[in-house]
Amino acid sequence: MQPIEHLYPLLQQPRNVVVTMHQKPDGDAMGSALAMFHFLKSLGHNVTVISPTNWAKFLNWMPGCNEVIDYEIYTEKCKALLDTADLLFCLDFNNMHRTRKMELPLMEAKCVKVLIDHHEQPAEEHFDYGASNIRKSSTCEMVYDFIVQSPFSDKLNVDMAACIYTGIMTDTGSFRFAITTADTHKAVAHLKMLGLEHNIIHENIYDNFLENRLRFTGNALLNHLHVIYEYNTALMAINKKDLIKFDIQTGDTEGLVNYLLTIEGIKLGALLIDRVEERKWSFRSKGNFDVNEFARAHFEGGGHKNASGGRSNESLEFNVKKFKEVIKLYEAELA
Ligand code: 5GP
Ligand code: MN
Repeated sequence: MQPIEHLYPLLQQPRNVVVTMHQKPDGDAMGSALAMFHFLKSLGHNVTVISPTNWAKFLNWMPGCNEVIDYEIYTEKCKALLDTADLLFCLDFNNMHRTRKMELPLMEAKCVKVLIDHHEQPAEEHFDYGASNIRKSSTCEMVYDFIVQSPFSDKLNVDMAACIYTGIMTDTGSFRFAITTADTHKAVAHLKMLGLEHNIIHENIYDNFLENRLRFTGNALLNHLHVIYEYNTALMAINKKDLIKFDIQTGDTEGLVNYLLTIEGIKLGALLIDRVEERKWSFRSKGNFDVNEFARAHFEGGGHKNASGGRSNESLEFNVKKFKEVIKLYEAELA
């Protein structure tokens, strides 16, 4: 993988570009993809953003989101776009299987492939150019760097700023996680000077849910929270019945895992959701407990040291049982 700066000369000519991100894109995945979309379009490229799956509706306000194509719905159209692409940007994921059904088409695509990502242990061998930096708050901050360090930095505008801010804000927990640096704040100061209205973005992302989602959260905290004090661990498993009862949609469970770490002394928080297609884990930790390694070792996942995810085809009950067994291996670190 060549350094990303080597890509700038290739952007001098108009190209067919596909931009994609991880499945069920969050604020950082959608934000980085759309910021890149606006930037490349401003350079005269023909750009399409493909999402591997659907996404949370609290992202729909983002400039350009209405043009994003869902691979699961428009599979043939997306495959044709990949066939004719000169350049493919893969944003906010470290491994092609994070794109679910797009994995094979992405691997087989003949175009130049570019990675921009901040997750641990990226599969760099699949990419021609890239930037991978686990010390960056978000992929959006890396897209900001990519734009301002380019010969086309004057193209940065308020739409790109809104997209970039969204990912920085969501991935830093609104600037509270340790990964937030002086550079992160400097980037945001620059975005403000371009006219960014950050308060509107907070409202769009965090104050736009339906009543059922709040009641679902209350029910989950009251009835499904399980604190394992011996291991300073909090676990929450959400069954299908509740997902149906409260009409839970993609994105409605985002943030739920963070409640687990608000209990005094808790080092590991684990949330399990009984999705239709798989059982999906979210892990969060405080301090030195490495949930990237934990998810990789036991739950087919990965991510960052203090925030990771995993998956399983086994039942909810099987996963809960397995989790309770597996944490015993980490007694020295957790207890
Ligand atoms: P979340 O719990 O919010 O879904 O994900 C937390 C972090 O872990 C995010 O950075 C996300 O991209 C990453 N992540 C979530 N699920 C997986 C997974 O199955 N595999 C890998 N490698 N990373 C994941
Ligand atoms: Mn991210």
